[in-house]
Amino acid sequence: MRTADLTGLPEGIPEALHDEGIEELYPPQDEAVEAGLTDGESLVAAVPTASGKTLVAELAMLSSVARGGKALYIVPLRALASEKKAEFERWEEYGIDVGVSTGNYESSGEWLSSRDIIVATSEKVDSLVRNNAAWMDQLSCVVADEVHLVNDRHRGPTLEVTLAKLRQLNPSLQVVALSATVGNAGEVADWLDASLVHSDWRPIDLKMGVHYGNAITFDDGSQREVPVGKGDRQTPALVADALEGDGDDDQGSSLVFVNSRRNAESAARRMAGVTEQYITGDERSELAELAAEIRDVSDTETSEDLAKAVAKGAAFHHAGLASEHRTLVEDAFRDRLIKCICATPTLAAGVNTPSRRVVVRDWQRYDGDYGGMKPLDVLEVHQMMGRAGRPGLDPYGEAVLLSKDADSRDELFERYIWADAEDVHSKLAAEPALRTHLLATVASGFAHTREGLLEFLDQTLYATQTDDPGRLEQVTDRVLDYLEVNGFIEFEDQTIRATPVGHTVSRLYLDPMSAAEIIDGLRWAADHRTEKLRALEGETTSTSRSAESEPDTTAGFQRASDMVAAAGDEEGGDSAGDDSDFESDRTYPTTLGLYHLVCRTPDMYQLYLKSGDRDTYTELCYEREPEFLGRVPSEYEDVAFEDWLSALKTARLLEDWSDEVDEDRITERYGVGPGDIRGKVETAEWLLGAAERLASELDLESVYAVREAKMRVQYGVNEELLDLAGVRGVGRKRARRLYEAGVESRADLREAGKSRILAALRGRRKTAENILEAAGRKDPSMDEIDESDAPDDAVP
Ligand code: ADP
Repeated sequence: MRTADLTGLPEGIPEALHDEGIEELYPPQDEAVEAGLTDGESLVAAVPTASGKTLVAELAMLSSVARGGKALYIVPLRALASEKKAEFERWEEYGIDVGVSTGNYESSGEWLSSRDIIVATSEKVDSLVRNNAAWMDQLSCVVADEVHLVNDRHRGPTLEVTLAKLRQLNPSLQVVALSATVGNAGEVADWLDASLVHSDWRPIDLKMGVHYGNAITFDDGSQREVPVGKGDRQTPALVADALEGDGDDDQGSSLVFVNSRRNAESAARRMAGVTEQYITGDERSELAELAAEIRDVSDTETSEDLAKAVAKGAAFHHAGLASEHRTLVEDAFRDRLIKCICATPTLAAGVNTPSRRVVVRDWQRYDGDYGGMKPLDVLEVHQMMGRAGRPGLDPYGEAVLLSKDADSRDELFERYIWADAEDVHSKLAAEPALRTHLLATVASGFAHTREGLLEFLDQTLYATQTDDPGRLEQVTDRVLDYLEVNGFIEFEDQTIRATPVGHTVSRLYLDPMSAAEIIDGLRWAADHRTEKLRALEGETTSTSRSAESEPDTTAGFQRASDMVAAAGDEEGGDSAGDDSDFESDRTYPTTLGLYHLVCRTPDMYQLYLKSGDRDTYTELCYEREPEFLGRVPSEYEDVAFEDWLSALKTARLLEDWSDEVDEDRITERYGVGPGDIRGKVETAEWLLGAAERLASELDLESVYAVREAKMRVQYGVNEELLDLAGVRGVGRKRARRLYEAGVESRADLREAGKSRILAALRGRRKTAENILEAAGRKDPSMDEIDESDAPDDAVP
């Protein structure tokens, strides 16, 4: 079908598509339109990457809007939300308003009610439903991108429940689910009462093969000679071969998939030695500029390593990178400036970065649950391979696996090239998933009885797939018990209601188990306040005392609380608990105590303990014992103690961050990337924000301590810098420099001498002006200021 003949779209859109070069629909798109895509019919499109799924979604959404409706596009990753929004914004000139909903979970995003197309992650949509966003009722079309992710243990259940809720809100909702070519797409279509378009068609040929010896053997029987040099270096040979191409001006880029971040980084270093030989003089200077931009993002070792590789035309890409770094790398790869990216599989699921050649170097990955190396799923490998071939640029795409001997070559053909992708299976019947979703389902009024809940669950993919319906019922009962015991729901005869705290927990988007842990910890702190404060004061005294007196052989392993209790006895027998006249200047709970509390909730991914860590953190655990909220598990409770220590390690990272330790030192000390620090910081900020809400709702005194801990982690600064760091454009490093120059607060920014401020900001005039403006200074201009006028005391 020609796009010009499409009907039911807003005026001007068929012509615009035509002008973009989209003149004919691709066969799977054709099939989708035949199945009623533009008439509001539900559809599952299971087609390979790059075969035009986005246009399928756009046709559905645009025709829905043309009929007066509103469309929602659900993405699996935040990074994809902005990519999709940017893509859909080209329809704004045809009167279509596009909005993206990210950020704060606890809001209903009312402003979105004026948008025609809304892009959001499944978690965000779930939270919008919980917060009763009024515009949810107006939705007429919802697109679920990468719907095969219902198979994912962590994120699948949210997508599944969200789709079920949206369909319950509006039974005539058009659901368009986009999927990779999974084995049981038909089952997904049955679940959604949708028709199915299942196709292997691709706009550009994909040749899949295995490299072994001195050649690639492809699935069509053809071979391409790619001799490896000395040392059996298959990957560099393949990257060089793609760059040689098939003649003049036919340079092909490569994406190399490896199984760990460290491998991605070391492979990029090696590939830079190859790509370097293929860049022109102009490219070299452009790459040098890009490398400088990368260094500007952050001055960490990762940033430096990336910049070095990029200067030579190669890069690495993994979840430990700062998002600005990832975007710079992806853009430069699309612009053909970077010739090779070495990536972990996250890239395959992520944004659009097609490449002439894809090399799947590692098809096994370490799996913690499994306790060893495990082969990747066929679906995952197919997703990586699907990145091969840039439409309009490459004559074809090539995806290559590597083998060391003839037998494993045949095995790879069987395992990945001839094989169909696995089926997807709902992961909803797991307790953590149901804990969250059942509370939300009750709190947002989707069900009020046990039977109602079971009926709702009957709308899920799980119910379509399972042959053991009793299991869901059992888990449901266990979860309802848990929620009742923890005070999140209450029963009145047959009716289930969420308690006020239960409502808050659901709106805050917390796992109820995290909420229970936080509430218990804060209540415990209220009950043990005096005793622990005494212990904390005692700790200081006892350290200074033991410096002068005889050495105490048990010091370090004796719990500080015991020492204080003993000291109290000497002073006249006060018991640690009852002394309302006890006073202390210390903040309690301490930041470390609060960080540890949120780090041990299931909503925080904790850092792993490496060898040696167990001893280090056990020692720290005893040293700082009075700061922890709740009972410290004994060393003999193996698993519980180990978890406690992992949480402590994570909490220490946050403590370092808010003690202003350099990012680079932190990455080194904990063996993480800058992106991981950001991730932990963001999660902690969210959880502490939730803790603040809970503390205030339960009338707990610790609310102030929690707020301070949250702000310190948010800005990464000590207490005295909080005021300054809150000014836009300041940040942790500049706040410290300003403070040391005697500019200690927002008010000082409005009044202090400009030359002093400018000197503290290292002479950056534009930055200084922006900061002064943000601080509310009347005359922020730096035009007349001479930095060398700075008073002597301005520079520390
Ligand atoms: P997918 O989402 O399936 O991975 P995309 O939707 O990103 O793939 O499509 C890949 C590319 O193909 C895009 O650049 C898109 O503009 C282009 N495209 C889609 N449909 C057509 C068409 N019918 N004719 C020409 N190009 C198309």
